[in-house]
Amino acid sequence: MQYLANEQRYASMEYRRCGNSGLKLPAISLGLWHNFGHIDKLENARNILCTAFDKGITHFDLANNYGPPPGSAEENFGKILKDNFLPYRDELIISSKAGWGMWPGPYGDWGSKKYLVASLDQSLKRMGLDYVDIFYHHRPDPGTPLEETMGTLDLMVRQGKALYVGISSYQPEEAAKAIAILKQLGTPCLIHQPKYSMFERWVEDGLLDVLEENKVGCIPFSPLAQGLLSNKYLQGIPAGSRAASHRGNGAIEEDAISPATLNKVLALNKLAEERGQNLAQMALAWILKDPRISSVLIGVSKPEQVLDSIRCLENYSFTSEELDRINAILK
Ligand code: NDP
Repeated sequence: MQYLANEQRYASMEYRRCGNSGLKLPAISLGLWHNFGHIDKLENARNILCTAFDKGITHFDLANNYGPPPGSAEENFGKILKDNFLPYRDELIISSKAGWGMWPGPYGDWGSKKYLVASLDQSLKRMGLDYVDIFYHHRPDPGTPLEETMGTLDLMVRQGKALYVGISSYQPEEAAKAIAILKQLGTPCLIHQPKYSMFERWVEDGLLDVLEENKVGCIPFSPLAQGLLSNKYLQGIPAGSRAASHRGNGAIEEDAISPATLNKVLALNKLAEERGQNLAQMALAWILKDPRISSVLIGVSKPEQVLDSIRCLENYSFTSEELDRINAILK
């Protein structure tokens, strides 16, 4: 399929500087954790990516294990890149990661140099790329010296296989150590990717301060708590939704949708309507209200969700009364 990107693609997206780097990220970035694997429809994946890029979403986030099966999101992304996006490669920020189990044996998991080097080579091959723009260590590894893991990120940049590096799901103290080691090596940590939503607020407890002090960017994942922070589950679990699909690999399951959670969702939904937004838009806006956030990583199952979610940019300021109400609902 021939794809000509929308000429107006940069007209309305907001771009935020990532920490004190030279890189700006779109306020909304698109993640390929689910809905881009071999079990999914390639044409839908293509439509999502084209819809996103047409709206100025220049950043696509991947990892070695995205699919399912693991590796297949990178393979599908590689196909779509080759068919549709090669003329736009220099307009894109493509990231990948390693740190979770990817292949059997002692060298296919965690944070050793042996694993990370092999994994990035595999990711580049699957996507048909010479380099990724950002490479992350996907989760902290208590068994490997941080110097080895960070030294490997530094090596990747020196080898030209990654332009920037980041860390994901590191707690404040270990993030501070990783950032210091990378600084010493001469490859600054660009960004941290933590889980953050109205339902999971741990980053407010020290991590955002560490990132601000060190001028490192922040790109939260699962901002809608995998779809819970939308109006989709208020009337039951719709067929085709993530919770109904038993996708595995960490995807939300039916038992996460409890009556207590739905009561909160209902109250948040009411407030969102009063603000003239839907709940998904308010949940994204609530994250973007903080200038320390470089970008928020959305996941979508259809192109319409990109168009819907992006409208959070129309209003991401909150009155103190609204914030108090949200805090009271979430208590
Ligand atoms: P979200 O919390 O945004 O959940 C995405 C799901 O929410 C979609 O699949 C869809 O559900 C639903 N949704 C999206 N937009 C709307 C909308 N406008 N209205 C109603 N429902 C909507 O994010 P993800 O959990 O998918 O995470 C986003 C990205 O973060 C991932 O793709 C990945 O790149 C990254 N990530 C990183 C991790 C890490 O360890 N570093 C871990 C997990 C994610 P449905 O499918 O039911 O339609």
